[in-house]
Amino acid sequence: MIANYHTHNVYCGHAEGTIEEYTVKAIERGLLELGHSDHFPFCFDVLNDGRMKYEDLHIYLDEVERMKEKYKDKIKVFTGGEIEYLSDFGKYYERLLNSKAVDYFILGQHFYSPDGFKYVNVYVDFKNDNPPVMDYAKSCMDGMKTGYFLYLAHPDLIFLNDLVKGGKLSDECKRAISYMVDESVKNDYVLELNGGGYNCLEEFSDGMRHPYPVRYFWEEVAKTNIRCIIGSDAHHPDAVYNKSHDELKEKALSMGLNLVERLDID
Ligand SMILES: [Zn+2]
Ligand SMILES: [Zn+2]
Repeated sequence: MIANYHTHNVYCGHAEGTIEEYTVKAIERGLLELGHSDHFPFCFDVLNDGRMKYEDLHIYLDEVERMKEKYKDKIKVFTGGEIEYLSDFGKYYERLLNSKAVDYFILGQHFYSPDGFKYVNVYVDFKNDNPPVMDYAKSCMDGMKTGYFLYLAHPDLIFLNDLVKGGKLSDECKRAISYMVDESVKNDYVLELNGGGYNCLEEFSDGMRHPYPVRYFWEEVAKTNIRCIIGSDAHHPDAVYNKSHDELKEKALSMGLNLVERLDID
């Protein structure tokens, strides 16, 4: 791995390590590019659980700028953010990107708003039977279509619920996966192989294993030329890049995925 654009830090409240600790660790481990992409706030308080506070945003942005300058001879640092796509917030993403306050966003669709009014949290609301996975897939693809996002983070994560409950994917999940794959081919979207699920083991009906990547999803992607990139989704400096990511890379290559090592961020 030479670049990692998916890392968190203390500002979201559930990750350990300062921005500088992640930066120093990335240099030690030999990364050439590092994007800080903590859970990014919206400019109002309702949805701000598990993400940095809006009032801390300027401190976060200043601190990443400081890292860019301080370590510029050792590593290329980017200011990023992991955020959901909500259609009402177009101006918000645009303002941050156009002003260069952030270099990129990655789309981490932890919740979505099917009608622009009600919010569906995929961790909470998708625990029911027959979660609306096609709605979710559409919300991700609508987000990617805007051009605000560098890539789609953990695109396979929601399909995990079905695997946990029944041990196999429903036909509706397969339809949603096929839709996401087709749209990604058509529009040249980049999909992330998320390192978060590869850093741990969980009990499934087929035994102990890494919870994701969800194999079926990536087998479908492997039939195409979609660009895939590994993002470590580090919530601790040690996870910024470690041997689990090398294993994930091996696995991706052996599946025939079109793995890219870095992306152009302007
Ligand atoms: Zn997180
Ligand atoms: Zn995420």
